[in-house]
Amino acid sequence: MKIIMLGAPGAGKGTQAKMIADQYGIPHISTGDIFRANIKEQTELGMEAKTYMDKGALVPDELTVKILLDRVAKDDCKSGYVLDGFPRTIPQAEVLDKAVKELNETIDYAINVEVPDENIIKRMSGRRACLACGATYHVEHVPPKKEGICDRCGKELVLRDDDKPETVKKRLEVYHAQTQPLIEYYNKKNILKEVDGTKDMKDVFADIVKILGA
Ligand code: ADP
Ligand code: AMP
Repeated sequence: MKIIMLGAPGAGKGTQAKMIADQYGIPHISTGDIFRANIKEQTELGMEAKTYMDKGALVPDELTVKILLDRVAKDDCKSGYVLDGFPRTIPQAEVLDKAVKELNETIDYAINVEVPDENIIKRMSGRRACLACGATYHVEHVPPKKEGICDRCGKELVLRDDDKPETVKKRLEVYHAQTQPLIEYYNKKNILKEVDGTKDMKDVFADIVKILGA
């Protein structure tokens, strides 16, 4: 099963993608996580991506498409994957379509997690991330057992640089201009499904399972 998660930054794509990956036994692929891992390792790719990410801008398509295509070519993607944060532009979606088509396969679902902008800034300022293992928490909605420490790997949790309110505002503008058009793109392909992301995360997941089938 091949699934794309759509939605504004902070809509809960990563939260739901992780649950989908666990339930359906497919890898969760987040381009944002791949960039952050590269930043942590101080690779050339990471250093270049960081200059865009810190401004709330998108990393250029050429760089992003390459890392995504390399990742989905790995063996663990043979039975499918859930993409979180990719595609974010129409050209990225077109490259993905082409790559999938070359394998005689199709994307099964594009799930749009719908959350109004008003809710987003609050969510993002409460998000805490583990840069070591990619786990995500929220100070109110999903607190870790021990404040500031990742339940999964014991490392320190941080407020991502790009989750500060000024950057979030910019990221929302970029989302509306460049990523939102993908909703119509996948609607035309008849694979778009919408879920109400303002619900409790377990209820959002239950709605997704209804779409995907148990
Ligand atoms: P995205 O991957 O779309 O950027 P995340 O999954 O990281 O978003 O979620 C953003 C923040 O909101 C996180 O702190 C997460 O714990 C929290 N969150 C996710 N889903 C919900 C929800 N349904 N209700 C409340 N908070 C949520
Ligand atoms: P995310 O973790 O999905 O919120 O992504 C964090 C940041 O990484 C984004 O604001 C972008 O700067 C960059 N990024 C992640 N995925 C993409 C993508 N598909 N295209 C361009 N930039 C991306």
